[in-house]
Amino acid sequence: MRIMLLLTKREHSVFHYLAQGATTSEIAKQLQVSESTVRTHVRHLHEKLVTSGRAQLVRAAVLHKERDMCTFRSREQIQDDSADQR
Ligand SMILES: [Zn+2]
Repeated sequence: MRIMLLLTKREHSVFHYLAQGATTSEIAKQLQVSESTVRTHVRHLHEKLVTSGRAQLVRAAVLHKERDMCTFRSREQIQDDSADQR
């Protein structure tokens, strides 16, 4: 399942932060965007992944990360964004 083909780079980044248990305000700080922008990304994630509720989305994010389902190009972006968090 290559769900990341559906996501923009930003949405993918947000998805990975969710997997780390980051809050909306923490994600906003990391990506240097407003919280409402993060909420928009989260809403798009719900639409694209057909999840409802934060817990379900976070579970999907954790599975995605554990099973290493990033596409090659998306992975590069994630490493750029969170290289110092590993
Ligand atoms: Zn990923």
